[in-house]
Amino acid sequence: MADFFESLIAMLLSIPYVFYLWFAGWVLVGVVLVCWGYAKQKKDSHVTSGRCGGCGYITQGLSRFDCPECGADLREVGIVKQGQPNHILIAMGLKAIALALLFLMLVILLQTIRAGGVL
Ligand SMILES: [Zn+2]
Repeated sequence: MADFFESLIAMLLSIPYVFYLWFAGWVLVGVVLVCWGYAKQKKDSHVTSGRCGGCGYITQGLSRFDCPECGADLREVGIVKQGQPNHILIAMGLKAIALALLFLMLVILLQTIRAGGVL
C-alpha cells in the first residue's frame, strides 16, 4: 500500500508544473465566470419586473407597448427579465472547470500508463 502512494506521488510530481498552472488557471477562470453569473443576479435582484430589450428601461407599469425611453416596440425588442442568474456565464464557467478536470484526469491517466507503475 505504501508503494502505491509512493508511486502515485512520484507520478504526480513527474507531471510538468506548467500543466498544474494551466489547470489552476482554467479552474480560476471557471470559478470567476460562475461567480460573475451569480453576482449579476444579486445586483439586479431588486428589480423584479422586466426591462426593455433595447435600452434596459424598466417596463413595470407601462400601459403601452412602446418604450418611453428609446421608443422601441417592446413586442419586437422583447422584455428582458432581470434578477436571474446569467446562465450563459455560469454554463461557460462550469464547462471550463469540467474541461480542466477532464484534462487533469487524462494527463494523470497518461502519466500513470507511461510510468507503468500504479496500474
Ligand atoms: Zn427602451
